[in-house]
Amino acid sequence: MGDSEIDNQQSTIDLSRYARQTSLKDFGVEGQWSLLKGRVLVVGVGGLGSWVSELLARSGVGFIRIVDDDSVELTNIHRQALYTEKDAAARKLKIDVAAQRLREINSNVAIETVYARLDRLNAEKLMQDVDVVVDGTDNFETRFILNDCAMKLSKPWVFAGVLGTKAQMMTVVPGKTPCLRCLMDAPPSCDGGNCRCGPGGVLGVAVAIAASFEATEAVKILSGHVDRINPYLLVFDVWSNSIKQIDVSTPRADCPCCVKKDFAFLEP
Ligand SMILES: [Zn+2]
Repeated sequence: MGDSEIDNQQSTIDLSRYARQTSLKDFGVEGQWSLLKGRVLVVGVGGLGSWVSELLARSGVGFIRIVDDDSVELTNIHRQALYTEKDAAARKLKIDVAAQRLREINSNVAIETVYARLDRLNAEKLMQDVDVVVDGTDNFETRFILNDCAMKLSKPWVFAGVLGTKAQMMTVVPGKTPCLRCLMDAPPSCDGGNCRCGPGGVLGVAVAIAASFEATEAVKILSGHVDRINPYLLVFDVWSNSIKQIDVSTPRADCPCCVKKDFAFLEP
């Protein structure tokens, strides 16, 4: 967005709707304007991405690009924001329903829809003009592509995964925190499809909590408070009431991705 567009935007947006947010001492009007200028890519608008995009639209993030190629099903609704039984009955595309609801929630926000699944061929184009990327995928294969591309373009991204009642979340800021490949060399093997929420099941509220953590991290980055990001790998289980913060504060010295710049997951 050019400076003249931002000036124009600033003269037309009524900040009063964000009063409960701008009155926060550590956030203020300055943080809100930064959010309004912020651009985010939400990869997937299923369980995580639907909540994330709703939370970011309500917060006043200026531009949200949503990427998905799936349609709404009744079995989605227990864990996915934005969608209704009518959407499932009509088998509507998630990006179409999500865009309409997000615009109804906050008309200040520019919503762009992309009917696609993020892959090694389109990742760079989808990410190159945003400030932060939020993971709403359900598989590690895509997350490794996402990680490589984010490191190549030097974009911060927020990762989360939910399985059953357990979830994990981590924020990756290039040059500051470890990347996904600092933690693991390759996607973990999938035991009978149990890496995804389909066969193994997932508690809906666990997804909403993980997505809320992701959206919070994106808000910190977009509002100019990158110093506030959670530097730990957050691991929690909403059923056994456990929450752990694992110290992964130092990038791996020989990480092939963020240190050696070998973006193998973007290669054919
Ligand atoms: Zn790394």
